[in-house]
Amino acid sequence: MKAKYTGQCLCGAIRYTVDVEPLFSGNCHCRDCQRASGSAFTPAMIFPASSVLISGEARFFESAADSGNSHQRGFCPQCGSQLFASFGSLPGMLGIKAGTLDDTSRYVPQLDFHVASAAAWEVMNPALPKKPGAANS
Ligand SMILES: [Zn+2]
Ligand SMILES: [Zn+2]
Repeated sequence: MKAKYTGQCLCGAIRYTVDVEPLFSGNCHCRDCQRASGSAFTPAMIFPASSVLISGEARFFESAADSGNSHQRGFCPQCGSQLFASFGSLPGMLGIKAGTLDDTSRYVPQLDFHVASAAAWEVMNPALPKKPGAANS
């Protein structure tokens, strides 16, 4: 009975609680994640959306993924922190960005994906499996 993942944005206007284990945890190295985060990759956890309790209201920015599916990134309108993602290809699921966890050690990535577009200055964990493209490719 460990579950209970909690986290928040930088200013605290948005908080979340999840009481189940993630269905997937992995690092996305795509260009969109690099631009949106300003960093090398997005550490993503995927949960059933119905199991995520959110207080405060995120705004979502929609873009098209390489696959053509829509991808929505949820951020705090007050401080700009990115917390959430939803995917046209994964209805009913919600992504949470692991940097927003209260206890970041709870994030255990299983996979590096979109590594073909990884930044030249990034150093990845060699122990993790790598996929050049999408996680499900
Ligand atoms: Zn905020
Ligand atoms: Zn990505």
